[in-house]
Amino acid sequence: MTETCPHYSDLHLQPIAGQWRTGAAGKSLRVTNPYNDALLLEIPQANRDDLDAAYREAGRVQPHWAALGPAARAAVLHEVVAVFDRRRDEIIDWIIRESGSTRLKAQLEWGAARAIALESASFPARVHGRIVESNVPGKESRVYRSALGVVGVISPWNFPLHLTQRSIAPALALGNAVVVKPASDTPVCGGLLLARIFEEAGLPAGVLSVVVGAGSEIGDAFVEHELPSLITFTGSTPVGRGIGRIASGGEHLKHVALELGGNSPFVVLDDADLEQAVNAAVFGKFLHQGQICMAVNRIIVDNSLYDAFAERFVERVKGLAVGDPNAQDTVIGPVINSRQLQGLQEKIALARHEGAEPLYEGGVDGNLLAPHVYGEVTIDMDLACNEIFGPLVGLIRARDQAHALELANASEFGLSSAVFSANLERAVRFARQVRAGMTHINDIPVNDEANAPFGGEKNSGLGRFNGDWAIDEFTRDHWVSVQHSPRQYPF
Ligand code: NAP
Ligand code: MG
Repeated sequence: MTETCPHYSDLHLQPIAGQWRTGAAGKSLRVTNPYNDALLLEIPQANRDDLDAAYREAGRVQPHWAALGPAARAAVLHEVVAVFDRRRDEIIDWIIRESGSTRLKAQLEWGAARAIALESASFPARVHGRIVESNVPGKESRVYRSALGVVGVISPWNFPLHLTQRSIAPALALGNAVVVKPASDTPVCGGLLLARIFEEAGLPAGVLSVVVGAGSEIGDAFVEHELPSLITFTGSTPVGRGIGRIASGGEHLKHVALELGGNSPFVVLDDADLEQAVNAAVFGKFLHQGQICMAVNRIIVDNSLYDAFAERFVERVKGLAVGDPNAQDTVIGPVINSRQLQGLQEKIALARHEGAEPLYEGGVDGNLLAPHVYGEVTIDMDLACNEIFGPLVGLIRARDQAHALELANASEFGLSSAVFSANLERAVRFARQVRAGMTHINDIPVNDEANAPFGGEKNSGLGRFNGDWAIDEFTRDHWVSVQHSPRQYPF
């Protein structure tokens, strides 16, 4: 139930090293509403000194936070859930205003971020070490599991609250301290709002810092810093590659978890329920204007169903309401910014130039881009090879099941995927041959549950989030052996 409490204020301040203060970079970030360009906030940005202070304080307070013990850390996470409930409307409003999310998407995102807090509250009680056997007489072999220490989190703008939460909630629950660098389009939902929520829930000062600054300016320093032993990054493949290079080849080696781009195939086999497949393709493609790493990126339809699918799909797409994301019935709101819009318009021009068949082309108004659908797309075209991240899509004709599989795997990415068939075991056999981290049968590729392994193969990234997989990512194993009786050495 939503109660009234004063909304958070002073969101231009950042929690840096235990204090709410302005960044020292000497310049401000303008945070705007992608729908109407209204100025929401001006945030004096953080510089490298701020970043360094945040990391050092995180390193100083982390052992105390970890030492509070499992019940105390779980209690903070449970309280985070309560704050999410209390401030539901306030949080959803911020998601709508800052990221151009429709009301529906903002509600889904709030729910996902809340679910992660709840799942993470169980982690302190689930994490455990082991005792393994030893071949050395008199030796006891223990494996202790402990917090990594300090974790650096870099997150994107599309699901900023959710994708920051999926790192910070498990990391904190397991006794780490965290410094977040949110995306510059969404510093509030991607960091500052969460920091207020965790503070209200009782997280001690300094355990979570947020530094607002451009990735191009403080990104390298954020990753290179000696203190974090893990950097979790969610964003594009090119930036992720660069982070991987620094983390594994720089002065201070560290772990990385990389959740990168996707190019989800949505495969419709010859025995699929056509209407259900069309409904899924529409939702899986156009939720959040297609700006989801798992979004339907290639619709691959068996030749026998292709024409009927194309006709019904276009019919449905024409009816999607485009407009003010805050309006109850809007399905498609604005794309995040004009730069992103321009990139999508270039993709539209390229699709036509490459000979894709225009099936439906909606209009443009400010950052609102209505759907565009192309038919007879081939696997070498831009719409098929590259991540789209917008409300455009191409339909690809598959000769048969084997061809559909070949097309599905013809990508450098391997994040999510979907296959529709009336024969579930046939679909499972197909799914298991798709090289991806996630495949959903008779559903959209966009699925994320707090207890199921989320992550990609190939250039879609490294590592898994959520559930037991998050417990592994955010802790380290330490082998400690105890020689109980004097050991005999060969010399
Ligand atoms: P992006 O440009 O890679 O930015 C992501 C984050 O990285 C932002 O916080 C950005 O900061 C920061 N950054 C930029 N350059 C950096 C650098 N040199 N060093 C360190 N950090 C740097 O991606 P995006 O455009 O925000 O997001 C869209 C992409 O994210 C898509 O490719 C999408 O598929 C992917 N994504 C993947 C997942 C997943 O779970 N696999 C989920 C969502 C999105 P600034 O904003 O300040 O530049
Ligand atoms: Mg903005």
